[in-house]
Amino acid sequence: MSGLLHSQAVVVDTHCDTILKVLNSRGEYRLRDLHQEEHVDIPRLRQGKVDVQFFAAYIGAEYKPDRAVKRTLQLLDCVHQELDANQGDLRLILNAADVDAAQSNNQIGVLLSIEGGEALEGDLACLRMYHRLGVRAVGLTWNERNQIAEGVGECRSGGGLTDFGVSVVAEMNRLRMIVDVSHISEPGFFDVLAVTQHPTIASHSNARTVCGHVRNLTDKQIRALAANGGVMGINFAPEFLVEHDRATLDDVVAHIEYIVNLLGNSKHVGLGGDLDGIGTTPEGLEDASKYPALTDALLRRGYGEEALRDILGQNHLRVMRTVLG
Ligand SMILES: [Zn+2]
Repeated sequence: MSGLLHSQAVVVDTHCDTILKVLNSRGEYRLRDLHQEEHVDIPRLRQGKVDVQFFAAYIGAEYKPDRAVKRTLQLLDCVHQELDANQGDLRLILNAADVDAAQSNNQIGVLLSIEGGEALEGDLACLRMYHRLGVRAVGLTWNERNQIAEGVGECRSGGGLTDFGVSVVAEMNRLRMIVDVSHISEPGFFDVLAVTQHPTIASHSNARTVCGHVRNLTDKQIRALAANGGVMGINFAPEFLVEHDRATLDDVVAHIEYIVNLLGNSKHVGLGGDLDGIGTTPEGLEDASKYPALTDALLRRGYGEEALRDILGQNHLRVMRTVLG
């Protein structure tokens, strides 16, 4: 029963760092093969019945600030090469119709995202060209300050969005790209919600009340994200799940339940596992193939079919349909 429900539901995960590993492996790690050491590949996405996976182009510190464009292009090229090599399995998602097409062709939808606004090198022309290359979501900052805003790792100034940052959000609204507020400072988070015309995602962030990590969202942030129509994707990193060492599948469920109870509905929480970006994974959710176990756990907690579908993907899909068009 639960297996059927899981395969029928649309499963969307809004963050993985797999493409960085693929690029850095120089050909050793390709998406078509099953890799014991890694979290995400086509066989595992198939086993986990993942329908749409966001692939983040993460710009490492050594490429900032002045080699970010080339690095971003290398990462995007790497995803496009994987798309070309696996056309039967993967489909690039540019709009909502592509999600439907991927579903009817039994393909996994791939959404290109950028993690770190340094990729723009301070120029909206870069943003527009990334859009033309298929990018449909941008995380405005990583943990540091950049031209757009302050990240959570450097918030002594209390700074939010810069003037350039405001223009980036406006241009992303015009281009119909998803603004991602994971990693941004708290003032930056609220600035984004004040200026954006579209729902926003926190692609891989958890609840601060459950686990007091600076990367997690406060109750006030979670309520504001819900009021914006946005969605947060639950991150599987143990340090964002629990305040001790070892995390399990139940800790992921605890964050989901906390958010559902806080808001009184299941419409603003989804999945954003951060797979291949985290050193260790929760027991029971070791890689992308384990997603059905999460559905089982939620069913055992008494979640009904509609709430389950919301959490597994309908919420993220709603934002995608609204923003991407
Ligand atoms: Zn991240």
